[in-house]
Amino acid sequence: MEDVSSSRSAPARRLHRVAVLSVHTSPLAQPGTGDAGGMNVYVLQTALQMAKRGVEVEIFTRATSSADQPVVEAAPGVLVRNVVAGPFEGLDKHDLPTQLCAFAAGVLREEARHQPGHYDLVHSHYWLSGQVGWLARDRWGVPLIHTAHTLAAVKNAALAEGDRPEPAAREIGERQVVEEADRLTANTAEEAKQLIETYGASADKIDVVAPGADLALYRPGDRLAARAALGIAADEAVVTFVGRIQPLKAPDVLLRAAAELIAAKPGLPLRVLVVGGPSGTGLERPDSLIELAAALGIADRVTFLPPQPPDRLVQVYRASDLVAVPSYSESFGLVAIEAQACGTPVIAADVGGLGTAVRNHETGLLVQGHRTADWSSALGWLLADPAELTRMGERANRHAANFSWDATADGLLASYRRANENFVRQRGPAATPTIDPVRRTRALWKRRRP
Ligand code: UDP
Repeated sequence: MEDVSSSRSAPARRLHRVAVLSVHTSPLAQPGTGDAGGMNVYVLQTALQMAKRGVEVEIFTRATSSADQPVVEAAPGVLVRNVVAGPFEGLDKHDLPTQLCAFAAGVLREEARHQPGHYDLVHSHYWLSGQVGWLARDRWGVPLIHTAHTLAAVKNAALAEGDRPEPAAREIGERQVVEEADRLTANTAEEAKQLIETYGASADKIDVVAPGADLALYRPGDRLAARAALGIAADEAVVTFVGRIQPLKAPDVLLRAAAELIAAKPGLPLRVLVVGGPSGTGLERPDSLIELAAALGIADRVTFLPPQPPDRLVQVYRASDLVAVPSYSESFGLVAIEAQACGTPVIAADVGGLGTAVRNHETGLLVQGHRTADWSSALGWLLADPAELTRMGERANRHAANFSWDATADGLLASYRRANENFVRQRGPAATPTIDPVRRTRALWKRRRP
């Protein structure tokens, strides 16, 4: 086993095995519907990369079907542990905090079946997992690395019209995890800034680690063959949305812009492709976008596809002239990188990580705000110049090469190593819990109510 945690300044703890916590969504679920999206892809892909580097990964997630086996080998060195915590089906994401105790018990019991020191580190994803990770960290005497993926305060500051705000309890929970984690990884420098300025994180415990894409899969390919595979005409201008159908992702912004563009340019053979399934509140009904397309008079110009596995999604990106990511907030936006890796330019809202994922006017266009007029004129401008779209696609492919899961795993390992070194330096090799949760919770409440 490779010693990835060799230290220059403190006694090293060898990194054999990492416990990864992903409470609310399984890395084995099909992304693009329900609660499964970029985080699932991130957790699975980084685990596969860790295993390649000789670090075993055990991913704990909540069982959501009675058919789930307690443990599944996703790949050599990567186990998925399905922890029974609450009902298999029908538990709303907002009710998941009620099951954290049961989930934590499942995680702690699993560890107790092994020799002490079974896990060298805990990496939690999303605040719900962070709550469990902090307890596991204290019990096991190992460092906790946390990746937030999304933050309630950021999401609430840019809600889609009619979208349900994240509850204050989530923000409190996030603040606790930010304070408790030994290290935080942020997708972008902007997210790091949000963690510092909005959540009071100390800058010296944050590592910026960009997510990636499977660059071996997402590559440019024959556009016409991809269109034929999807049943899309060769001569259409295809603009595609890929992702969970929910207000935050704003697929309705694309439909409204397309309708306005079609009205302004009736000769433009525009087709909108919407790939993904329902999720969350508001637009979650599978047929709500179909109804919107009909109401806008463009039903015949919109094709809906259910969530696609990666080997079909690559055809979707290749078949598209443009991929649109109109989200109201986005911590990174894997779809934007995957599309660009396939040589397809991206038109995206200038929010969150999309400003990093897309190079404005080089690999696509960043649009300010969500006004229909702005989106339809940006779309019209891009589609009017196929030669420039081709150039953008080539630059997009080169830009996406900077984002590989390989590089993400290297960044995470560096973060793990720093966490280990600091942990050993601060607590000594036989670390014991030093936390007073009651005092910390009181302090957090006081901070919220000056
Ligand atoms: N995805 C997929 N099939 C689909 C739609 C989406 O596999 O039909 C994947 C997509 O490849 C991407 C992820 O879901 O890796 C979505 O990640 P993104 O960061 O764009 O959005 P998130 O879901 O995290 O908000």
